[in-house]
Amino acid sequence: VLSGGGIKSAVAAARAAKEYQLVFVHINYGQASANRESEALDLLVDTLPGSRVVRVALPYLSQLRAAASEGAAPTKSETRGIVGTAMTAASVPPAVLRGLSPVLLSVGLQSALRFGAHRVVVGLTNTADASHLGLPGADAPPDSRREFLHAFNMMAEVLLQPKFDVRIEAPLMDLRYDEVVKLALRFRVPLDKTWTCERFGMQACGKCEACRARALAFGEAGIIDPGCAVSADSSPVKAGSQV
Ligand SMILES: [Zn+2]
Repeated sequence: VLSGGGIKSAVAAARAAKEYQLVFVHINYGQASANRESEALDLLVDTLPGSRVVRVALPYLSQLRAAASEGAAPTKSETRGIVGTAMTAASVPPAVLRGLSPVLLSVGLQSALRFGAHRVVVGLTNTADASHLGLPGADAPPDSRREFLHAFNMMAEVLLQPKFDVRIEAPLMDLRYDEVVKLALRFRVPLDKTWTCERFGMQACGKCEACRARALAFGEAGIIDPGCAVSADSSPVKAGSQV
């Protein structure tokens, strides 16, 4: 399971756990929230007996991001498009983002080969239908569309078969975020242990795009978010800088 410790991948994992023995793969590509995601994954894994976490660092991507950030400021429309993740314009140079998903999925494929797995599970959802949640940029980024995953799986097939049978599964692809939240309750996913915020801090900031999307999804689902313990007077969130 490619996971950043968020709700979507946790639900995808809970579903997959009924069929598979799980290895969570966390990828640090220089995102501010990487350490918090990693901590969340440790907590989630404890709730799924037999599963474990493998951490992959992509320091070269971080170098590219640092170099790109010295250039022009990213535009709002260029700041989405990671597997199950949305990021802030301030922290993400667009030059590296475009095309990052294939890199992450390829790490998933390699991890599957390493551990003898036949499936790589991702928590992608139907972001094209998120407009009813009032989310900005409602058009699904190209790398989270069904046709993209289909093309990636065709590539994997050409690359690996007949010797290996590994492909990407996106079991939540037909669901909206609020539907995933409801499914989380059904699968008894410990929502309080998930981490969605794009920033680094003890608490979710409640302001970034990912936090807002999460809040809207819980509102739409009619469920109180146990993991969104942001008080009105919470201290400012530290800017993440770990690489
Ligand atoms: Zn946030």
